[in-house]
Amino acid sequence: MSLITSVVGFPRIGAHRELKKAIEGYWKGRTDLDEVRSTGRALRASHWRIQSDQGVDLIPSNDFSYYDQMLDTAILLGAVPTRYRRLGLAEEDTLFAMGRGYQGPQGDVTALPMKKWFTTNYHYLVPEIEDSTRIQLSSTKPFDEFKEAKELGRITKPVLVGPYTFLKLARGPQGQRLDYRHELIDSVAAVYAEVLTRFIDLGAEWVQLDEPYLVLDKQDGDISLFKSLYDRIMPARHNGSGAVKLLLQTYFGHVDDCYEVLQSMGFDGIGLDLVEGREGNLAALERCGVSQGTTIFAGVIGGRNIWRNDYARSLGLLDAVGRVTDHLAVSTASSLLHVPFSLDGEDGLDEPVRRHFAFAVEKLGELKEVSDLADMDDAGRRASPALAGNQVLFDGSRVQADPVVAERIAALQPQDFTRQPARAERQRLQRSALGLPMLPTTTIGSFPQTAQVRAERARLRKGEIGQEEYDAFIAGEIDRVIAKQEQIGLDVLVHGEFERNDMVEYFGQNLNGFLFTRNAWVQSYGTRCVKPPIVWGDVSRARPITVRWSAYAQSRTDHVVKGMLTGPVTMLNWSWPREDVSHELQTQQLALAIRDEVLDLQASGVKVIQIDEAALREKLPLRRSDWHSSYLDWAIPAFRLVHSGVDPTTQIHTHMCYSEFNDIIEDIDAMDADVISFEASRSDLTVLDAIQAAHFETEAGPGVYDIHSPRIPSQGEIEERINLILGKMDAGKVWINPDCGLKTRGEAETWPSLEHMVAAAKAVRARL
Ligand code: GLN
Ligand code: ZN
Repeated sequence: MSLITSVVGFPRIGAHRELKKAIEGYWKGRTDLDEVRSTGRALRASHWRIQSDQGVDLIPSNDFSYYDQMLDTAILLGAVPTRYRRLGLAEEDTLFAMGRGYQGPQGDVTALPMKKWFTTNYHYLVPEIEDSTRIQLSSTKPFDEFKEAKELGRITKPVLVGPYTFLKLARGPQGQRLDYRHELIDSVAAVYAEVLTRFIDLGAEWVQLDEPYLVLDKQDGDISLFKSLYDRIMPARHNGSGAVKLLLQTYFGHVDDCYEVLQSMGFDGIGLDLVEGREGNLAALERCGVSQGTTIFAGVIGGRNIWRNDYARSLGLLDAVGRVTDHLAVSTASSLLHVPFSLDGEDGLDEPVRRHFAFAVEKLGELKEVSDLADMDDAGRRASPALAGNQVLFDGSRVQADPVVAERIAALQPQDFTRQPARAERQRLQRSALGLPMLPTTTIGSFPQTAQVRAERARLRKGEIGQEEYDAFIAGEIDRVIAKQEQIGLDVLVHGEFERNDMVEYFGQNLNGFLFTRNAWVQSYGTRCVKPPIVWGDVSRARPITVRWSAYAQSRTDHVVKGMLTGPVTMLNWSWPREDVSHELQTQQLALAIRDEVLDLQASGVKVIQIDEAALREKLPLRRSDWHSSYLDWAIPAFRLVHSGVDPTTQIHTHMCYSEFNDIIEDIDAMDADVISFEASRSDLTVLDAIQAAHFETEAGPGVYDIHSPRIPSQGEIEERINLILGKMDAGKVWINPDCGLKTRGEAETWPSLEHMVAAAKAVRARL
């Protein structure tokens, strides 16, 4: 008998991002909803077939989504805030209004806030529960998709975000944490119970409830909240007509602190991440055992990296679980949503390189192979060509080390991580050197990457135009936006980043040690995808990267133009890191490469340099006890290493795409940047209280409007936002800027929004 295999979730955007194209086409009015629906249907059918062809036993359904699975869950529970209901739109349009805001004949509403999904670069929408929200089963999506698969002859395993994770991540209308009243718990549990009942009737065998929130540190009341919910849900697994098995799926870490409770509750299956949560989960299993009737779904095929699975290692893990229980299934460690679709078509990678990688489709094959191997005795494994072929990939001969990089790292001294003089002194010098007004206005770096910009890049790639012609086009774009910014009256200008396809890939292309793919897209938010490069070997700078265009932009204006770089921690976090050397070492190598660029920029006359660390918070370990020891203790110094060599009057900015750093506010200050900008318009402003309480030294620009939405904010609403900020921060330290870069926006909304922003800043400035 072979072991059951299970996939936690599968990418939904499509091998060629078909879903993105259909939905964006619909938003632009090029197609209709029927087209979107049929694209969705075709993708689901194809994804189920691929998994079935690869021999997966428990194939997920309802892991599909038009925008976000958290948003789907909110809609399933009836948590659609009144302002969206009032628009009176069709079902899908209401969903899109919640996801990206709506401005049109039916009204004007902003989108729900968006946050990063645990330690991934995927963003979920934060469900909002109003006092008037009536929680009740309000959508048929999970059932429709199950029926759709059944009609195709497949019994799938429906997957839903579980009630505990849902309630822990949902917020009240002011962004406040929920009060877990009995009525709320009861009504949420009742919906899930009803879902199980319906699935019994539909003939499902397993239902998977995802509870990744269980891998976080517990707060008071968490365990009892979890138990209250599931004590009400579990009985619904059986009724007069049949039964369904419930798989409690955890991922992204371990559940050592609550496993004893989980295993005592009688779940039919418990899914454990044995990649990211290896030690804690194994310790818990060994300590508490597994109760009768519970199958452990051992997550050994990682869903967070693109490297081949190390079969010997996975077999070791499965054997360890096998010593605790006979009831074992083999699973992906998390959803495969966070890896690209397949290696098919990656013919730019030579075979000796390519064989080191496995994307979602290839991971399905690994799942099957590992589960087959797990079933064999030692002799069978020794004779297995699959195992032997796999072990060759991990013999250490993959890359040759770069001795120059190693020497530079070995020579680093403590003073290389400390900029002189102290920041307060620098800020004083910079203020007079740069001659900026109070509440200086700026943007985060990029301007709209219009179809024309992308088309020119494609023409260059295809050889339809030469480098000279392309460069002339970029120069023209820079001239255009420099003039625009002068005309609008911004204080610190940017060159617009037109030459960059992506803030990580562009840098990677100019560094030694990186590899690139053609089509390895992963979803970031809504229909947005990113294509991270791969760290393959030791990293160093191959050539100056940004100097030319930054210096050009500065030569076209008397205003200060801000140079624009991607920081080392973000470079690593938004790439596929190596698994054979530490993240700390990879980040240090990156820091040295970017340090070279910073010094060259300064030498070319650039006076303000922004080093984006958009992804620094993202990889903060989920457990507080690991924050410093396994991350911040090397990540923050790596950032300091990048800029410690500049002159006192060179102003160093950084930018982060979120405001959730209350807990690490001192670490952010310790990056020792002169100025930081961050997202703030789509989140509550508690970060400002933290800034106040921590005597934050870094000057700060909390974003005054949301750039993830095409909505144009009015001058009045921005003024209100600025006033709110000034209520909490010293005006001498405040910068005025949008939440993030503008590359995903259109020209039509970008310029009016910035005009309103500058007008708002001027109006407030006049009243100071
Ligand atoms: N400078 C980058 C831009 O404006 C920052 C992007 C980001 O924070 N993700 O596009
Ligand atoms: Zn950003």
